[in-house]
Amino acid sequence: MRFSLTFHPSYTFNTIGIIHSCYTQKFGIPRQPGLVNEATSTLELVAPFNRLDTLEGLDQFSHIWIQFIFHECLKENWKAKIRPPRLGGQSKVGIFSTRATYRPNPIGLSAVKLGRIYQEGKKVFIELHGGDLLDGTPVIDIKPYLPYSDSITNAKNGFAPKPSQKRKVTFSPLATTQCQDYQNKTNRNISQLISEILSQDPRPSYLHNKKGKEHGFQLWDINIRWQANPTYFEVLKLETIS
Ligand code: SAH
Repeated sequence: MRFSLTFHPSYTFNTIGIIHSCYTQKFGIPRQPGLVNEATSTLELVAPFNRLDTLEGLDQFSHIWIQFIFHECLKENWKAKIRPPRLGGQSKVGIFSTRATYRPNPIGLSAVKLGRIYQEGKKVFIELHGGDLLDGTPVIDIKPYLPYSDSITNAKNGFAPKPSQKRKVTFSPLATTQCQDYQNKTNRNISQLISEILSQDPRPSYLHNKKGKEHGFQLWDINIRWQANPTYFEVLKLETIS
């Protein structure tokens, strides 16, 4: 069927899976995939796609593309021009020049490292490393990452030529003990995870000049309290959210 310019069809897609991730809140999630390697998440396939045969051959790839819905951005409208964090909130560019989450179609795309693929009863899981996805994110497609085609050497990257400069992260004695206790209990290397997340500076640009301000972000059911000092960020304490 040929579509004319005056006929604009809309499409309905099915959720094929749901993300289980350490990121239980948007604040703190890295702005791109591959920046926080300690972050491991799981993609659980949902019926009728919870079949191992749909994944046959995928384990021959080290990385995959995940297409997903920015499901926490559905209530607000998109804008034609936005201020990307990489321009320090100073200038606006067109929405399609950015990876902003409020888009005409709220679809996200992330390349992630593929971990184990396994089945538990009727449930099928795919382990992912280095994702930037919120817990509960609906996934609409999986595709293999093809380095010979998807990785483009000498590609130009205008206003974000390099990764942001990493921040130094320290832990208070209390936070050090709490991280150790949490790791003993759960086997999760939470101090490494927190370090990688904070080194990316998750603050929006308008908070960059607020020196000494205390912030919080959430991983699983833990609220991480930290302070932004001029030359380093200090993790103050971990609070369990009840
Ligand atoms: N790789 C992505 C980058 C999007 S911006 C892409 O271009 O599609 C990354 C931000 O998306 C994260 O910082 C996080 O705050 C936000 N995010 C992740 N999952 C989300 C979800 N399910 N709903 C809304 N926002 C989400």
